[in-house]
Amino acid sequence: FNTPIAINEPVRSYAPGSPERESVLAAYKELFNSNVDVPLYINGKDVKTGNTRTMSPPHDHKHVVGQYHLAEKTHVEEAISTALEARKAWSQMPWEHRAGIFLKAAELIQGPYRDKINAATMIAQSKTIHQAEIDSACELIDFLRFNVQFMTDIYHDQPESTSDAWNKIEYRPLEGFTYAVTPFNFTAIAGNLPACMALMGNVVVWKPSDSQVFSAKVIMDVFEEAGVPAGVINVVFGDAEMITDVVMSSPDFSGLHFTGSTYVFKELWKKIGNNIHNYKTYPRIVGETGGKDFIVAHKTAKPKQVATAIVRGAFEFQGQKCSAASRAYIAKSIWKEVKGYVIEDVNSFKQGSPEDMSNFVTAVIHEGSFDKLAKYIDQAKADKDAEIIVGGGYDKSKGYFIEPTVILTTNPNYTTMSTELFGPVITIYIYEDDAYSETLKLVDETSEYALTGAILAQDRYAVIEATDALQNAAGNFYINDKPTGAVVGMQPFGGARASGTNDKAGSPQNLLRWISPRMIKETF
Ligand code: GLU
Repeated sequence: FNTPIAINEPVRSYAPGSPERESVLAAYKELFNSNVDVPLYINGKDVKTGNTRTMSPPHDHKHVVGQYHLAEKTHVEEAISTALEARKAWSQMPWEHRAGIFLKAAELIQGPYRDKINAATMIAQSKTIHQAEIDSACELIDFLRFNVQFMTDIYHDQPESTSDAWNKIEYRPLEGFTYAVTPFNFTAIAGNLPACMALMGNVVVWKPSDSQVFSAKVIMDVFEEAGVPAGVINVVFGDAEMITDVVMSSPDFSGLHFTGSTYVFKELWKKIGNNIHNYKTYPRIVGETGGKDFIVAHKTAKPKQVATAIVRGAFEFQGQKCSAASRAYIAKSIWKEVKGYVIEDVNSFKQGSPEDMSNFVTAVIHEGSFDKLAKYIDQAKADKDAEIIVGGGYDKSKGYFIEPTVILTTNPNYTTMSTELFGPVITIYIYEDDAYSETLKLVDETSEYALTGAILAQDRYAVIEATDALQNAAGNFYINDKPTGAVVGMQPFGGARASGTNDKAGSPQNLLRWISPRMIKETF
């Protein structure tokens, strides 16, 4: 590129009294009371099935913001057949035109749709404006733009030729149709998963999370306005198991792009395995799943920096990130100071609804999540080998509010040192300063997941030792930082073990999974 298409979108500050704050608040208020009716989207048309479910914000669960329509089996079948029909033209469209469509989608979010997509994310997923801006505006824009840059690089990568033999790789989409199953926690991920596949010439059936319908609708409006042709991306809501069964029993199913829980991903993988003899081609399987992400602080780490990594890593975005710090191992000699900073920071957080922009933490996504977190908090209150040093409160009378909570345990194998909770709770274990190597070994051995992790140390040998000892325990490894906040184009994101297939979101590696190249050799 001579012109820089892929630059990270600057994050707006929404300072008090600024026009941008006023404007997003107005969008929030309008959407909050809009009583929106969200249809399925099949073959470029809205489909209202009449079988609906209501939507309520997690921070105000008695308020209904609207409803969405649920797919029946026939709608999913229609989405598949319409996608296969659309594939005929879409797969032949010159890639520069597909690029143009998705760059336009980025522009639409950057400009006219920014307030709407942020407001929808604030309402549906209970994010503060700062969280929404980072996710549904900036990261989604970045994904769309950087993917085009990566695609350009991929398409220009051609083998050597000689004067009597011309070698050419045709970067073709997968044969058949693909399936995107997306999570509630990032609007950017929800948009990116179907977009990656469509950008590379594939057609898609997209099943967004029930808790993200509101912002999924805005994404689909953007894609439509940007020029994604009818049938290329089809959106179905509803019974995930039924939808998946219909999708995966089709012989034309050719790829799964998934972000969500480890359990569901493994179930989907099994389903694909069970159907393997029916498929025309081996389906590609790409998944980013759970995490139990760690922070290890060496005795030479700076206490303030450790505290910031804990607090930011664990509590930003209500801890509802696969990458969120949820267990920490701190050297005894620095703990007292770290603890002081952690408690001070957490006590300074305001918690409440996103429309009060001074809130730092909002509600967790739904009652199921709330109940699970409350149960583990109560357990920690009762257990002898655990103690809550800050937080521990919860209240679901209006919204699903869980206080940012720090559990201290004397047991390195305590349940919340290994169970993924997906909320604002972190568990800390203090190790003897001279047990650093054993602690690293313990961290690795207890890493069923391997998504993110951080080492904090000023001693370079300690950093090197951790980087080496934990090489398989985190796909994204941070030195002297929190283990969250990967930026598209800067830190491609993903992990292995129970955390997924590590096909790094926001990188060319991911896009390569959505093509099936043809090698053409011509001799003269
Ligand atoms: N990419 C995000 C981060 O680095 C996390 C995405 C996720 O939770 O899946 O914090």
